[in-house]
Amino acid sequence: MIIDAHTHVFPPRMIERRGRLVLADAGFAELYGEAKARMVSADALIESMDRAGVDASVICGFWWRSPDHAEEHAAYLLDAAAASGGRLIPFVPVVGSGAALDATLERLVRFGARGLGEVRPGQAEGVDAALERAASAYGLPAVVHSSETVGHRYAGKHGGYEVGDLWRLLEERPGVRVIASHWGGGLPFFALMPELRAHIEAGRLAFDTAASAYLYEPRVFEAVIALAGLDSILWGSDFPLRAQAQDRAEAEAALPDDRAREAVLGGNAARFLGLTPD
Ligand SMILES: [Zn+2]
Repeated sequence: MIIDAHTHVFPPRMIERRGRLVLADAGFAELYGEAKARMVSADALIESMDRAGVDASVICGFWWRSPDHAEEHAAYLLDAAAASGGRLIPFVPVVGSGAALDATLERLVRFGARGLGEVRPGQAEGVDAALERAASAYGLPAVVHSSETVGHRYAGKHGGYEVGDLWRLLEERPGVRVIASHWGGGLPFFALMPELRAHIEAGRLAFDTAASAYLYEPRVFEAVIALAGLDSILWGSDFPLRAQAQDRAEAEAALPDDRAREAVLGGNAARFLGLTPD
């Protein structure tokens, strides 16, 4: 099974009113303020999956500041997933805390939410608490945006979890399970520390490869296999930022053998997401 652990789709109605959303949400403006930043619907993703031979994709929302935008985006992701015959796996955005958050989570899970994403803690207060609530009450994992503290600037770089934030999240929020996107912003190096490796081996931490080609040399795949283990890596394209077919081909070329390709292109994601028996 080929699984893309990191893609983005938007409701057509949100794509149409991009301009107003840019004015309403500074975090959204940072990523999607320029017309060249693609926004596509679930139909376009399914077409791309058919072209790239992808069986299933995790569809992430944008981590909105307003509860209404989060609600609208989440509803679309859940509908698209329900209509996809299991090919789309919805990781939804949420806003809120306390009883209101509980009610929202209860409803989202009832309609098929499988996780939260793509989480940007810079967008709101109390995000770690929301992740913990979702994990402890419903076993929901999260795809979290990782921000590198080094390297070139790009739209949307900041506002995510840096390595220290990821460590604190794992240490202070016992139930939380995360897919740290974009190679965890460098966190795999710290898998050489037994205390971080323990989180990987406990199935609480994995890394996706989203936007790898824009950030790292292809040998990052073999480097992270050596540092953090083959089981910790999930292929993610960050579609539509990257074309799935091209990104898949580059990932396959960067992996040493068929066993590694099978694990990174789907086996690890299936295990982390509970799609197959352990
Ligand atoms: Zn992303």
